[in-house]
Amino acid sequence: MKVVKFGGSSLASAEQFAKVGKIIRSDELRKYVVPSAPGKRDSKDTKVTDMLYGCYAAAEAGENFKDKLAAIKARYDEIIKGLGLDLSLESEFKTIAENFKKKAGSDYAASRGEYLNGIIMASFLGYEFVDAAEVIKFDMEGNFDAERTNELLSARLENVERAVVPGFYGSYEDGRVKTFSRGGSDITGSIVAKAVKAEVYENWTDVSGFLIADPRIIDHPKGIETITYRELRELAYMGASVLHEDAIFPVRTEGIPINIKNTNAPEDNGTWIVESTCQKSKYVITGIAGKKGFCSVNVDKAMMNSEVGYGRRVLQAFEENGISFEHVPSGIDTMTVFVHQDEFMHKEQKVVSALHRLAKPDFIDIESDLALIAVVGRGMKSTRGTAGRIFSALAHANVNVKMIDQGSSELNIIIGVANEDFETAIKAIYDIFVLVQL
Ligand code: ASP
Repeated sequence: MKVVKFGGSSLASAEQFAKVGKIIRSDELRKYVVPSAPGKRDSKDTKVTDMLYGCYAAAEAGENFKDKLAAIKARYDEIIKGLGLDLSLESEFKTIAENFKKKAGSDYAASRGEYLNGIIMASFLGYEFVDAAEVIKFDMEGNFDAERTNELLSARLENVERAVVPGFYGSYEDGRVKTFSRGGSDITGSIVAKAVKAEVYENWTDVSGFLIADPRIIDHPKGIETITYRELRELAYMGASVLHEDAIFPVRTEGIPINIKNTNAPEDNGTWIVESTCQKSKYVITGIAGKKGFCSVNVDKAMMNSEVGYGRRVLQAFEENGISFEHVPSGIDTMTVFVHQDEFMHKEQKVVSALHRLAKPDFIDIESDLALIAVVGRGMKSTRGTAGRIFSALAHANVNVKMIDQGSSELNIIIGVANEDFETAIKAIYDIFVLVQL
């Protein structure tokens, strides 16, 4: 069977719900449904999750939150009415208002978006409603408890032919609601797919899958047909944001593919995310993604190459200050550590003095406002000249490359450039691989 997750924009209105109903009913195998909360109906609209956070903040501050809650209820009532359902959320909203007064927490508040949408979805489809708080568990430190969840969820769904499990939240052992991070319904879908050993996890959204590059930078970039989990991890980490970056983990270990589909264009193939494939991607590269806002800390020391433990001491200076590093390219007498600028900035001088204490460098040089770009592709391993093409394209575009890092997996090449060259660099790389195919 298939597990299908629908994102907020797919469920923003009765009209969108109707499309979703059609999609589900068109395939018998779509037995388990994971809904998000209603998203934006148009670009100026507010997501119900954000309305809930806002409403709860007012409740917590002791303000009157009646109107804010009424506006949320109106969103659901509009959907119920539009679908012609015989359903009332009156008593649910009464309970929510009481719990807001008791300061039940912002996680509880936000989770009501999915919870209520799940009730509507179950009524609309005639499926059983399974509250995620009963089956998705977190330990008392707030870490997702994969084992316990899988036990509970597979047992709960074993004899349920068709069910709706709301996305985004679960609960601690003591029953208090806890949410995943934003966009976390994607993770719930993956957890449910694992628990029922689905044949595929379909993730329905408002785009036809992943694009080779960010459409805000490249005009109408081409889509990605098939991508491996590992490639996606590289791209997602660097900012490609169609799917929550943690959503691959539950299904990945089970070999369940994810198919990203478009609710507004269901006939499009979308993107398949798979463990491994013999299908070559159309271009040498599968995708390009990147992020601005990095700093590089360059540490120089004569004869660094022969000093055992030098790298560890350098990294210890960052560890002691609670800073995680992104990349560490090195030379004979130099080592550079790339870090997130906003994380590093206010601890900068502490790190510098720790470096002096631990590693006694000859000098330290810090550069800011850098961007990292990941060029990812399983095809790079078997193709000669990929790096050459990237760098000649960048040279032609007058982009100065500040750092190069190719992992030994040959799955990606990371390039560091100045923030201001970010867009130009991505365009140049896209053009050379996608538009000018050799
Ligand atoms: N509704 C939540 C959010 O807006 C979770 C989700 O949609 O996946 O982040």
